Amino acid sequence: MTELAPTVVTYPDGALTGSSTVTHVTPLADGRTGVVLDSTPFHPVDTAWPDQPADTGILSTPDGDLRVATVVTGGVYDGDLVVGEDLPVRTGTEGWTFVVVHVVDGAAPAVGTAVDAQVDGGLRAAVSAGHTACHLASLALDAALADAWKKDVPTDAAGHPAFDMLAIQTSRITEYGSTDVYRIGKSLRRKGFDTAVFDDLRAVEARANATLAGWAGAPGAIGIHREDTTLAGRRTWRCELPEGTVELPCGGTHLSSLAEIEAMSIALEAAEVPGGVELTMTTVIRVAP
Ligand SMILES: [Zn+2]
Repeated sequence: MTELAPTVVTYPDGALTGSSTVTHVTPLADGRTGVVLDSTPFHPVDTAWPDQPADTGILSTPDGDLRVATVVTGGVYDGDLVVGEDLPVRTGTEGWTFVVVHVVDGAAPAVGTAVDAQVDGGLRAAVSAGHTACHLASLALDAALADAWKKDVPTDAAGHPAFDMLAIQTSRITEYGSTDVYRIGKSLRRKGFDTAVFDDLRAVEARANATLAGWAGAPGAIGIHREDTTLAGRRTWRCELPEGTVELPCGGTHLSSLAEIEAMSIALEAAEVPGGVELTMTTVIRVAP
């Protein structure tokens, strides 16, 4: 029986350190241990939508330092804690309590131990830049493909037909970049998307890159806004683009201003797959030192 409060998360505000208390420990595969804290600056990889990779770092305890190899989400239902890949529901599902599970090697600290959490700031900065670039690239791609739609479809945060939302298969954020894979099959064509636009992929790329070049270095603020501080709490990415402020749901970490961006661009590749086209967008970003 596991009675756990939802973990308070501080990474949406950019935190890299924090003092916490161990509330639960659980044995994992490979002799590793999952450590749950009452609050944490560590960003966990999300099970259902693993776009931003986990933070790494150190938990300092009175008995020494524990290296945090990865961080995953856990859910408690009916007193049972289910961790990482085994979690059968999306974060936020009603009836579950969601916690951050720090995966460490070696002896686990006892429940009640005070720990100092310290996130690897270099990796965090690199994936935060990658995550911001990922969102901006998807908006720039939507704008670049706006004329390919022959019917009305739902729009994105900037008011363009939501190609990204309607076609996305996977999104992986990396250090200073991201890779997004889209699938354009029968259902997207039925919604009015004309794949002839991909006949000149370089033109689509050029339009998106012109948009991104206009955003890089602009003065707009970027931030995560939230109503509550728990892991499962609803969070929104807000970015002041030159065209106006955009908002979309996001569980990750980001740059704090467009002004930090020196340059960013995308590259597109299309491949025929059974029943349609698979489009891969590779995004890179360079941040001011
Ligand atoms: Zn996001």
